[in-house]
Amino acid sequence: MTQHVPAALPDRIRHYIDGAFVDSVDGDTFDVLDPVSNETYVQAAAGKQADIDLAVAAAKRAFDEGPWPRLLPRERSRILHRVADAVEAQDARLAELESFDTGLPITQALGQAKRAAENFRFFADLIVAQHDDTYKVPGRQVNYVNRKPIGVAGLITPWNTPFMLESWKLAPALATGNTVVLKPAEFTPLSASLWADIFRDAGVPDGVFNLVNGLGEDAGDALVKHPDVPLISFTGESSTGQLIFANAAPFLKGLSMELGGKSPAIVFADADLDDALDATVFGVFSLNGERCTAGSRILVERSVYDDFVERYAERARNIVVGHPNDPATEVGALVHPEHYEKVMGYVEIGKTEGRLVAGGGRAVGFPTGNYVAPTVFADVPPSARIFQEEIFGPVVAITPFDSDEEALALANDTKYGLAAYIWTNDLKRAHTFSQNVQAGMVWLNSNNVRDLRTPFGGVKASGLGHEGGYRSIDFYTDQQAVHITL
Ligand code: NAD
Repeated sequence: MTQHVPAALPDRIRHYIDGAFVDSVDGDTFDVLDPVSNETYVQAAAGKQADIDLAVAAAKRAFDEGPWPRLLPRERSRILHRVADAVEAQDARLAELESFDTGLPITQALGQAKRAAENFRFFADLIVAQHDDTYKVPGRQVNYVNRKPIGVAGLITPWNTPFMLESWKLAPALATGNTVVLKPAEFTPLSASLWADIFRDAGVPDGVFNLVNGLGEDAGDALVKHPDVPLISFTGESSTGQLIFANAAPFLKGLSMELGGKSPAIVFADADLDDALDATVFGVFSLNGERCTAGSRILVERSVYDDFVERYAERARNIVVGHPNDPATEVGALVHPEHYEKVMGYVEIGKTEGRLVAGGGRAVGFPTGNYVAPTVFADVPPSARIFQEEIFGPVVAITPFDSDEEALALANDTKYGLAAYIWTNDLKRAHTFSQNVQAGMVWLNSNNVRDLRTPFGGVKASGLGHEGGYRSIDFYTDQQAVHITL
């Protein structure tokens, strides 16, 4: 299949500030590449401090003077359902653009577009269904909790599943009555520019949603350090999170940090091995392996280890690597040549640290573009870099264990703590292991499927705070306690 270029691509990607598409104040732009040709297909406005200042001023005005924070939840909910309708109505186009810009397989990009719509529907419903607490001291006092939007929320997002991850922050921030400035990832700015029309057509007032493109160290940094932005919700690498944490400290900002991972999948001998194989293959190779919750370390009990490794490697070899726009494709092109180089660097390191049983280089038949063959290393020791460090590509490390204690020690032996996947039919072991594993989220005998009401977040270097369901509502609102003497 040859390169697929979507029709009607924009001739330039601009900021969206106070209801208008604008260029950067200084006119600066940066190149955006597509991951199949690695050629620049568009220029995007490169935002700096001056652009962030304009966007924050518009968002602050809309918050201080506009109707948005003062609407009844039901009124905001109606508008957000219209946003969800609009996302759903153009999900095929969204998937096409996202797949072109990120290299994600088109079928998986479509799933992410549908999830974006679902995020808006979910928070539109939640703010209407929400109740707040009242406490009564009989004859003396009534106390109630008054939830209030906080102000301008700064939303900083990564390049993996960009549109969906933007929706994950935009929906609760807007549902609770805040106004926002979104700074999307510079590798993948294409789909974010669609939000502007979607929000305007749905009836979101000007200034409530603002978008500033640009590099993290320019536009992102200015947003983090802006005194009129009391909240920063960030998703990205742990090292970037640390920097943002330090930069936000002088302002005592509210921070939500969804960071990196190196999540273990632990397969005990008593597990249903076919299910475990299906799920652990999907867990690291779906979304090109560019997934924060990827089960990128697989720990397997020794008695089934050789059998598991052999069958796993065979499945990995059969994964269809292909053009992102081909519906048959299971692994597409990695997002950017810089990221491709990083992942290929780990593949080479892995060859010195473990036993290569599948892949190990560029995908066969793809001389150009960011295509990495699904790669499996077995017998990887916990000291290995490919065991410890987040690769964020289609590369997995498999390690044997002999006892529950050793499995737990291996599972916890990284700085990260985002997710863990446990495969066993022993109920007691499953719950004991969940209790002891250092992970914000655990899936037992289960694929990575998440109910939107559940908390999402990591421990250790994987994050700070939780989003998801009411946790997002908590993050984006002040809970003022009002005390009344009777
Ligand atoms: P990144 O940290 O390089 O960039 C993320 C965003 O931060 C981008 O918009 C970038 O421009 C911006 N940024 C960079 N430096 C900044 C600075 N100094 N100040 C303010 N903003 C700055 O991450 P990435 O490479 O885009 O994304 C991949 C990472 O994201 C992986 O580590 C992955 O695990 C993580 N991730 C985590 C989750 C989660 O929910 N835990 C979800 C998806 C991705």
